[in-house]
Amino acid sequence: MEFNNEGLDNIFFESLCKISEDYYFMENETGRSRWSPTAVNDFDLPGEYVNSSGAIIRSLVHPDDLKRYDAEISRIKNGETDFYQVDYRMRKRNGDYIKVGCRGNVIRNDEGRIIWFTGVITRLNGEVDPTTQIANVYVAARDIVETFKNSTAKGALMYLGIDNFKRINDLYTFSGGDEVIKKLALKLKGIIPPSAMLYRIDGDRFAIHYPYAVASDMQAIYNRAAEEAKEIRLSEKVDVSLTLSAGVCMYPQNAETPEKLRRNTQRAFERAKREGKNQITFYSQEIREQYIKKLRFTEVLKHSVKENFKGFELYYQPIVDPVTRKIVECEALLRWKNDEFPKASPADFIPVLEETGLIKEVGEWVVETAISQVKKWGDNDLIVNVNVSYKQLKDGNFAEYVLKIIDEYGYDPTKLVIELTESCKAHDISLLMKTLDKLREQHVLVALDDFGTGYASLDVLQDVSADLVKIEQKFVSGCRDNKVDRNIVKHIILLAHSLDMKVCMEGVETEEICQVAEEEKADTLQGYYFSRPVPAEEFGRMLQGNR
Ligand code: C2E
Ligand code: CA
Repeated sequence: MEFNNEGLDNIFFESLCKISEDYYFMENETGRSRWSPTAVNDFDLPGEYVNSSGAIIRSLVHPDDLKRYDAEISRIKNGETDFYQVDYRMRKRNGDYIKVGCRGNVIRNDEGRIIWFTGVITRLNGEVDPTTQIANVYVAARDIVETFKNSTAKGALMYLGIDNFKRINDLYTFSGGDEVIKKLALKLKGIIPPSAMLYRIDGDRFAIHYPYAVASDMQAIYNRAAEEAKEIRLSEKVDVSLTLSAGVCMYPQNAETPEKLRRNTQRAFERAKREGKNQITFYSQEIREQYIKKLRFTEVLKHSVKENFKGFELYYQPIVDPVTRKIVECEALLRWKNDEFPKASPADFIPVLEETGLIKEVGEWVVETAISQVKKWGDNDLIVNVNVSYKQLKDGNFAEYVLKIIDEYGYDPTKLVIELTESCKAHDISLLMKTLDKLREQHVLVALDDFGTGYASLDVLQDVSADLVKIEQKFVSGCRDNKVDRNIVKHIILLAHSLDMKVCMEGVETEEICQVAEEEKADTLQGYYFSRPVPAEEFGRMLQGNR
């Protein structure tokens, strides 16, 4: 019989192929079949229309699964069944196997001869991560539970994550990011010992489970992995250099159950990230104690917010004119006084406020407190700066809130500066812009804080039409003795002025730096040289002596 396309040009088949991720096929009585375009692509089939595709598909089935596959096909051929279902591993174009489930149905004529053979092949993502083709988080969980069934089990679990992966996605798009993950997975597969298992547990994180390992084994794996990650070939022209963070928990000494093993590995991992990334951390008693302390800290902080911001206070630091040395602005800086945590600084509590989402309420409180305070001082020329982090802007109604407060207090919007902290710059600029535009339309001023660090600084300067930049303290403090810092300061000022932005040099601690500021034509200065941040009352007295 000659092959023909009869019945294969079917609208329903084409629609299915468009709307579903699965692979479809249909074969007519001549043995000619049609395959969905994704199948043609993923399995490197000769084309959409294929003659005798059975042999081609069979050649893609993993040799270890062939017996099962053949058994099922022969049940159809010898008329035992009209439906079939079989799971097997199937080889993709790139040589990797994916686990699939194939379900099919045959239609026979009166003599029992097959006249239609149709089916669907579904990726069984339940086990295999589709990007890397390695086992996924569910398999990891199952394997660990299995391990603990043996009461003498011992070994280690490691979480291994790519540092600043978001940057890779930003630079090379998501498909570039996926490629990096794939390449790294391949390298990791190559370096782990045969008895260790590799899993992808989420976006940029892998897990390595190594039964009977001791700590030095895990250290050795990390060292190799970190070495390999230094050079990942993305394309002929692009090499990406990654650093990795890892957390390890040894069992049974530090975890007697699968849940504790996962939890403690996660805590060690978080610790490695928090301590600056690019390192491996082993779970220890000290991490446990720190964790409990942080829980308590969070609880007490939450309680303070709920108790009408008990213990929160704004300090104010003067910002002066470099020539007259008079106070022209101030920056409101948050303080939190608490008996149980007397030493907590903004660096301790701001991140926790951000993690818990409390920064939204506290941030609103900051704006209202600062505005009402400036009103109380009654100095109509004084500008107040408040700090705002990305998390506060993300919720969408920050601008409305600020404008409402301005309205309620009859405050002059041109006397309010919103300082965007560095963390804002790494995020979704379009969302930032929307919020900032609403504020700027009403003449509220916007400053880029800690300017100079962060890879995106210059991009942001272009995208966010800010009114002001505040130069990062470390360049300012270094600019008298260090030529590079001096040059950075000089050029940030030139660049900002050319874009009609004013420049504040912060962290000014000496008269010499003031001289530099004057020479380079900074617009305002802030730093301990003039005053540390002080309580509202004290700042009020400073203002009186200022005029
Ligand atoms: P920042 O916005 O860069 O604030 C300047 C920090 O530098 C302040 O620390 C200030 O006390 C300190 N500083 C000022 N002059 C000098 C100087 O001459 N030398 C040195 N070494 N340091 C100086 P602080 O008050 O501990 O605040 C730290 C950070 O916490 C702030 O950095 C800001 O990012 C954040 N922050 C403070 N208040 C708020 C707030 O209300 N909301 C948000 N989202 N963040 C805040
Ligand atoms: Ca600031």
